[in-house]
Amino acid sequence: MRTALICVGLLMLAGFTVAGAGEPGKTGKKKGIDWDLLNNEAIALLAHYIRLDTTNPPGNELAAARMLREKFLADGIPAATIQPAPQRGIVAARLHGTGHNGQAIVLLSHMDVVPADPRGWKVPPFSGAIKDGQIWGRGALDDKGPGVIALMAMLAVKRAGILLKRDVLFVATGDEEQGGKLGAGWLVEHRPDLFADAHDVLNEGGAIRVLPNGRKFYAVSVAEKSPLWIGLAASGAAGHGSKPEPETAVTRLVQALYRASQMQNQINVLPLVQAYFYQIGALLEGPAQFADLRSALQQSEFRERFLADPFNNAMVRDTITPTVLSAGDKVNVIPANAHAEIDCRLLPGDNPADFLKKLQSAIADDQVKLQVIMNFVSPASPASTNLMKAIGDLAQQEDPSAPVVPTLSSGFTDSRYLREHKLIVYGFTPIELTAEATQTIHGVNERIAITNFTAGLRRMVALLQILGS
Ligand SMILES: [Zn+2]
Repeated sequence: MRTALICVGLLMLAGFTVAGAGEPGKTGKKKGIDWDLLNNEAIALLAHYIRLDTTNPPGNELAAARMLREKFLADGIPAATIQPAPQRGIVAARLHGTGHNGQAIVLLSHMDVVPADPRGWKVPPFSGAIKDGQIWGRGALDDKGPGVIALMAMLAVKRAGILLKRDVLFVATGDEEQGGKLGAGWLVEHRPDLFADAHDVLNEGGAIRVLPNGRKFYAVSVAEKSPLWIGLAASGAAGHGSKPEPETAVTRLVQALYRASQMQNQINVLPLVQAYFYQIGALLEGPAQFADLRSALQQSEFRERFLADPFNNAMVRDTITPTVLSAGDKVNVIPANAHAEIDCRLLPGDNPADFLKKLQSAIADDQVKLQVIMNFVSPASPASTNLMKAIGDLAQQEDPSAPVVPTLSSGFTDSRYLREHKLIVYGFTPIELTAEATQTIHGVNERIAITNFTAGLRRMVALLQILGS
């Protein structure tokens, strides 16, 4: 029985027509949305979701996946959990439309979170506390809050009897914070049938950004830098700390890291980045150089000032960040081995093999061995699509003075797995994000203001209606 039920559930998820989905182009019996009720339910759901500790490693997303599945099933939306590994989980649910538009839209989020050291937090990080008009806890912004907005928007559409012309597929993965091999990576490899009819995907990575002068823009991430994580291993003679050789594993490694960090990576202003700064410059009313960043970066004084900002720097060149360092554990013993890891991020289009060669020649020490720990080339999505137009229509409707600005993300998300399958994937959640709030993601006191959260839910319902019309 259990097997049969699961099969039916997954078939329904995979896009097979369901009787009674309604006539194409017609709306059902509209019942309106009780926003107060919906908002309170969404707040309680997010608090509960935060309390289910999905710190990755180890992830343990299964309980959260089951909880989200039950939420869909209670409203009659077919949903199923998938277990890529013991205690790991993925949840998928499908809100059937009229079938008039056969291209489903995917609302993608991830259930796992990064660890949270309670020191420095004003509330315990897994309390889901509701305090001072905010919902507190690890995952409030990354990525449980956006996941709840997607889920509750689907419930709202169903309850209100709004018939969309296309199916909406909710997918919450695990393992995103560790690279996604047991989450989105597993899904695209083992269950591509689940999203075979999908065309567009909305994922994390962008939001309604609020600039210091209060101006807003809809930041939609269309491309991501590629990670190239490299291990460095140096070796030399072990010995007594009182009689050092001229060079040891440690001195070699330190010099290698220094040379790597001094490597001057070429500045390359991609068209996407040039256009981004043009639009931001207009919103901020300066600096004037943003109007033509490529030319402005020829002037050394401006270039120095511009690159001093880590965000700006990351937008226009490959970066190298030493992060892991280990060697001896006794002050008077020279260790035979020293190890480091560096996190390099490459601009779209840059070749990892070429970068590695350049790095090797900058280090110029063949006793320091380089090994690639992780690398993938991140494909981009086109910026001019119906999905972008729909986000533009939402902005027009909700925040008429806010333009839609395609962006490059310095980090990576699960988006690449679906972009590899030729889907149009945008990083965009319809909540407002200030620079201060961004600091709490992977940091301390992660939280979302209730007003921001519920406005995000309202905008998501509006966006689904635009996409499904
Ligand atoms: Zn995330």
